Amino acid sequence: MLDLSSLRLAPGDVRDERVDVPGQPLELGGQTYTVTPDPLVARVEVQAASGGLYLKLAFAARVEGPCFRCLEPAAVDVDVRASEYHSTDPDEPDDELLSDYVEGDLLDVERWVRDSLVFALPDKILDREDCAGLCPHCGERLELGAAHDCQGEQLDTRWEKLRDLL
Ligand SMILES: [Zn+2]
Ligand SMILES: [Zn+2]
Repeated sequence: MLDLSSLRLAPGDVRDERVDVPGQPLELGGQTYTVTPDPLVARVEVQAASGGLYLKLAFAARVEGPCFRCLEPAAVDVDVRASEYHSTDPDEPDDELLSDYVEGDLLDVERWVRDSLVFALPDKILDREDCAGLCPHCGERLELGAAHDCQGEQLDTRWEKLRDLL
């Protein structure tokens, strides 16, 4: 949490704050992904305007875990940027001008970081861009463009489950 009131901002002021956020693991598609560095170093820029605050977030993270298609180790590096506006006008009738991450004087940097990290990730985390996944019959890794002839009668339930997820 970042206490915005402690920044003592006057309109026109800009502050750069550094907030350490624990790199908690992410659950994605039933798998667990580690997030490094731990803690994540989030830079929060707060700019005060006459009726509100402009909030900017920036951090870099590496997310590691199983490839969505073949379960081999995969890693994604993301540079995350996000911004929010929060009205400080007590008579503000429009909820849309209030940031979800501001509660009273507190900015929930931890939740903002987690949400924007998930948002910044690709749809599928892959060990390599052209990962062809696994043969649904024998569970062997498939190579794009390479022939794979298996008569594949024995269905391993683990792969069957994985296929259902895709
Ligand atoms: Zn893969
Ligand atoms: Zn096969």
